[in-house]
Amino acid sequence: MDYLQGLNPEQRAAVEQTEGPVMIIAGAGSGKTRVITYRVAHLVRKGVDSFNILVLTFTNKAAREMRERITHVVGPEAKNIWMGTFHSVFAKILRVEADKIGYPSNFTIYDTDDSKSVLRAILKEMNLDDKLYNVNFVLNRISASKNNLISWQEYQKNEQIQADDFSSGRGQLGLIYQTYATRCFRAGAMDFDDLLYKTNELLKLHPDTLNKYQHKFKYLMVDEYQDTNFSQYLIVKKLAAVNENLCVVGDDAQSIYAFRGANIQNILNFEKDYPDLKVFKLEQNYRSTQNIVNVANSIISNNKDQLKKNVFSEKESGDKIKVMRAFSDNEEGKMVAETIMQDRSLKGRKWHDFAILYRTNAQSRSMEEALRKLGIPYKIYGGLSFYQRKEIKDLIAYFRLTFNPNDEEALKRVINYPKRGIGDTSVDKIIVSADQHGITPWEVIVEPGKYLEGKISGAVSTFATMIQSFQVLAKSKSAYESALYIAQHSGLLKDLYEDKSVEGLNRYENIQELMNGIKEFSEREDIEEKGLDVFMQDVALLTNDDKDKEKDADTVSLMTIHSSKGLEFPQVYVVGLEENLFPSQMSLNSRSDLEEERRLFYVAVTRAETKLTISYATSRFKFGTLISCEPSRFLDEIDAKYLELDYSAKPASSGSSAFFDDDRKAWSGSKQADAFSKPKPATSAPVKTTSILAKAHVPSPNFKPSDTSNLQVGMEVEHERFGFGKVLSLEGNKPDIKATIFFKEIGQKQLLLKFAKLYIV
Ligand code: ATP
Ligand code: MG
Repeated sequence: MDYLQGLNPEQRAAVEQTEGPVMIIAGAGSGKTRVITYRVAHLVRKGVDSFNILVLTFTNKAAREMRERITHVVGPEAKNIWMGTFHSVFAKILRVEADKIGYPSNFTIYDTDDSKSVLRAILKEMNLDDKLYNVNFVLNRISASKNNLISWQEYQKNEQIQADDFSSGRGQLGLIYQTYATRCFRAGAMDFDDLLYKTNELLKLHPDTLNKYQHKFKYLMVDEYQDTNFSQYLIVKKLAAVNENLCVVGDDAQSIYAFRGANIQNILNFEKDYPDLKVFKLEQNYRSTQNIVNVANSIISNNKDQLKKNVFSEKESGDKIKVMRAFSDNEEGKMVAETIMQDRSLKGRKWHDFAILYRTNAQSRSMEEALRKLGIPYKIYGGLSFYQRKEIKDLIAYFRLTFNPNDEEALKRVINYPKRGIGDTSVDKIIVSADQHGITPWEVIVEPGKYLEGKISGAVSTFATMIQSFQVLAKSKSAYESALYIAQHSGLLKDLYEDKSVEGLNRYENIQELMNGIKEFSEREDIEEKGLDVFMQDVALLTNDDKDKEKDADTVSLMTIHSSKGLEFPQVYVVGLEENLFPSQMSLNSRSDLEEERRLFYVAVTRAETKLTISYATSRFKFGTLISCEPSRFLDEIDAKYLELDYSAKPASSGSSAFFDDDRKAWSGSKQADAFSKPKPATSAPVKTTSILAKAHVPSPNFKPSDTSNLQVGMEVEHERFGFGKVLSLEGNKPDIKATIFFKEIGQKQLLLKFAKLYIV
């Protein structure tokens, strides 16, 4: 059993406890995912049929990596293990069982854009105010209902829900939900939440099917269990009900999806559901240095709601956590990029040893710009996926329509692209006619003579014949041959080819990249079914991270903290530690939201193995306006002894718990420093804008911050951001002298000299 050597006694006990319910709730980096990986290998080595194992992971990437490791121990058998995200695993099962719940097996998966488009059409038809019925809001409501297994019928019957909706002036939500669900069903489409909701429906309505999967999946394992929602919880519970060989691992301190319905209750329920549960404790963190682990512990100890855990590291204490202060978001990017550059050569690192984590996607811009300037290769994870690009979605819509002609969103997307004389009015007519006759738009367009009047029927008929020809072809040809034929004969390839702009060229290249992917798929030897329909099945669930080609590239990783869960990197930058950004402004209204932000910070920090750098900017562009920023309260929560300040403009002080107060004084002269060093009540602070400053000043070529200790009233100065100005008055004593300066571009400002980047002209 030498393959179990790499485990500590507690981990090993958890791996060997293969029978019965097992739960591991333990801190970050303690080897939870490792236990699942070894456990699967151990099961197969013990003779369990690999087809009988189901592992649910948080990302497809995690599943892929796990499978690779298991393959090292058990060989090609690893291929047969069911492993993937909840969505991908249950989409696969639904394809097999679809007819039982009235869906075609080639049902389409609607992505968020498709869902929103369906909803927009419904809101328009119902003449509803799109501010009150904001599409995102409505979609969230429907999503939350589905994740709590509330059908539209139950939604409409539930008195509490109805009363709430009516009192907020949104009494039509129940009807919108009904129409949305009916439309998706008619189009043979499921949205992301349906993949779980319909699985529950399937298992509930068909005990024989439930029984089949209960016996198939004799061993179940779930990683990141803290982030499962009710719908997922119930699927797992049902599937495990016969054998009860269920192992869940997670960390309540890393629960970061409460906003999507994930529920800590699932962990607590687990103990109730399985009274003979075996619980294992993992306390040693193998990922990070002691300093990093200590910082993480000190952050999370500020949360009231948490299960007590002891986490320690036996690695070296390591570098202190570096805090970098920048004067703007662009400067923050520059500092991050420059230190990456330095550390790479000084410490002999690879680009892929570095990750930059941020709270919101918008923050990637300044980081990208800085990395590009220095020629540092990078990859953004979880951003706009390759499969979300317009040209890719267009071509895929043709594929979708070929296999599921009732797919209304795909139809609307390409019926007049490239242009073929079927304008919006014609499309509206088709849809109205379909509604009137209780049939799908596709049924209308295959018999236009019967359902439509006037000259549109000719163009519509040609379109329908074209799609039918694709259907015939796709039955006999390989994925690649079919895809190429469709791209050519739909006119899409020609349309893109004729656009000679840079963007046009880019789009054409993207289509070629998709074609290359399909070609590789057609040539794969490990699968038998290689039709375009098989390639298409889960395209909607793919993300950027799933493109195999880029898997091993040596690039710096950029991602939101949410997508960094479960990952680890030698060096991590957590950027944008500012009030109203992190914690986000939305989270400041309640303790539970604020605690979720803090857990997010905990997740970010615990991704780092040897070096952690945190940064913040004192001003940032938001919606085209320069905003002054206040350092995040989370910075104060870290015990100062673990920190090392990198303030080019300020000597590092030590021993003080209120390191960031000076920035706060500079941020707002009127506020007392004390107000910030004490824990603040969770109220929302107004965003303070530096008015007029819509555009930042570009410093002149000889700008160099100079020693301002001899600054005199009347002197002319240049400020890095505010431009040229004249000193009006000076007050206070060294080192806290404040200067009132009149700037030509923005007017009067008071600055703390020790921080102000000034040049005496
Ligand atoms: P997270 O909560 O962030 O998902 P985790 O608990 O799943 O973390 P893992 O990712 O499994 O932790 O492990 C963290 C790191 O520690 C990995 O690199 C893993 O290989 C390593 N590790 C875990 N246990 C041991 C061990 N007993 N010996 C050596 N390395 C270990
Ligand atoms: Mg993990």
